Amino acid sequence: MKIMGLIGGMSWESSAEYYRIINQEVKRRLGGLHSASCLLYSVDFEEIERYQSEGNWKQAGEKLGDVARSLEKGGADFIVICTNTMHKVIGDIQKKISIPILHIADATAIKIKEQGIGSVGLLGTKYTMEQDFYKSRLESNGINVIIPNDHERENVNKIIYEELCLGKIQQASREYYKKVIQGLIDAGAEGIILGCTEIGLLIKQEDSDVPLFDTTNIHALEAVNMSLK
Ligand code: GLU
Repeated sequence: MKIMGLIGGMSWESSAEYYRIINQEVKRRLGGLHSASCLLYSVDFEEIERYQSEGNWKQAGEKLGDVARSLEKGGADFIVICTNTMHKVIGDIQKKISIPILHIADATAIKIKEQGIGSVGLLGTKYTMEQDFYKSRLESNGINVIIPNDHERENVNKIIYEELCLGKIQQASREYYKKVIQGLIDAGAEGIILGCTEIGLLIKQEDSDVPLFDTTNIHALEAVNMSLK
C-alpha cells in the first residue's frame, strides 16, 4: 500500500471526512483490520484564508509547498490537497517535491465523463467558481462549466467560509443551495459539481434532480485507488 500524504486543515471539517472515507474504503476493499497508510499535515486555516483574501497566492503556494515537502520527507508516495481552492497553487507545490499530486478536478472529470455528462454546474468558493485554474482543467477534459450569477456566487461563498468551514450546517443555507442548483439545472447543467470539500456536509443527492459530483468523496476514493495500485 502506497503512503498518501494529505494536506488538510482547509478546513479540518472536510479533512475529517477525507480521513473517514479513505479508511472506510481501505477497510471495505482489503477487509479485516486494514486501514489507510497515510500522513495528514493539517494546517492552520486562519493563515491560509488570510493569504487568500489578500490575494497573496505566492505565499500560500510557498507555505503549502513546504508542507508537501515535509510529507515527502516523512515518507509519502503521493500528495492529496484536501481542498479544491488551493489547487490554484498546485504548480508552486509541485515545484518543491518530486512525488506526484492527485488533482481533484481530474479525478472529478473522469467521473463526469463516465456518466456521459457534457455540461455541469459548479459550486465552490468564489475563487474556484470565478477564476480559470479549476474551470479550465474541466474544460480541457471536454466538459462545459456553468456557474451561478454574481449575487448567488457571493452567497454560496459566504456560506462556505462563515458556516461550513466552522461546522455550522443550517437548513436555510441548504434551501438556498437547492435554489441555486435548480437555477444551474434550468441553465442546462446535467450534473452539479460540489466543488468545495465542505459542501457535501450540507447537500446530499436527494437535494438535486441531477447527479451530484461530490469532490471530497471522489478525490478520497481516487486516493485509495492510487494507494492500492
Ligand atoms: N475546502 C474548500 C474548497 O474545497 C474551501 C476552503 C479553502 O479555501 O481551501 O475549496
